[in-house]
Amino acid sequence: MSIVYIVSAPSGSGKSTLVAELLKMVRNLDFSISYTTRPPRRTEHNRKEYFFVSRKEFEAMVVADEFLEYADVFGNYYGTARRFLREAEERGNDLLLDIDVQGASQIMQRIPDPVSIFILPPDWQTLESRLRNRGLDSEAVIRRRLDTARREIENYSKYDYILVNNLLEQSADQLKDIVLAERLQRSGAKPSGEEARRLATAQACRLEQARDRVQPILASFHLQMAKGT
Ligand code: 5GP
Repeated sequence: MSIVYIVSAPSGSGKSTLVAELLKMVRNLDFSISYTTRPPRRTEHNRKEYFFVSRKEFEAMVVADEFLEYADVFGNYYGTARRFLREAEERGNDLLLDIDVQGASQIMQRIPDPVSIFILPPDWQTLESRLRNRGLDSEAVIRRRLDTARREIENYSKYDYILVNNLLEQSADQLKDIVLAERLQRSGAKPSGEEARRLATAQACRLEQARDRVQPILASFHLQMAKGT
């Protein structure tokens, strides 16, 4: 059975770049291209980053029960088509979903044992300057994204793993270690030396181990730790 990996992060935390790096490094991992009603950005292409569809088309897919999950994010619909999971299973591949916290909660209820990873920015100030520097959004949109980021980050404790995106290359390696460690654990195979190192890196990213790293980040967003973490 395919392993479903869910990656969520507030916008500006570098998630898209990390996911792109991961897909270059790991074999037999399919990316689920979502459907969205938001218009494409200048650099995006239909069927590559997303399937760009009208609200009418999206709603028809909802009625036909074609989505594994869908959500309204920033006023647009986004959804994961069921067929991506089917196709990954047919190919014997695992599947990676880049979805928001609402979609992640739906998947956690609908699929047995998904692996969920939450990516955190190093702190509020870094997120704010990343959003400004990428020059994609107006001031009002930046404010809204920061507010949303705060609300999304509150959900970090629902995820299995927490990855703090300080340095791209290091974070991409950690993400790869998590993906491969989960495969290894589920296969039941005895780990080699390199694999044991990978398991240890993944273990250090587990929610239960992340307390000391998460606490100052939450504080910079004026948030408190969730109970029991
Ligand atoms: P963006 O418009 O910046 O590409 O994405 C906005 C948010 O929508 C991101 O948090 C992204 O993870 C989320 N998203 C993308 N595809 C899906 C999807 O299929 N389902 C859900 N629930 N969220 C998605």
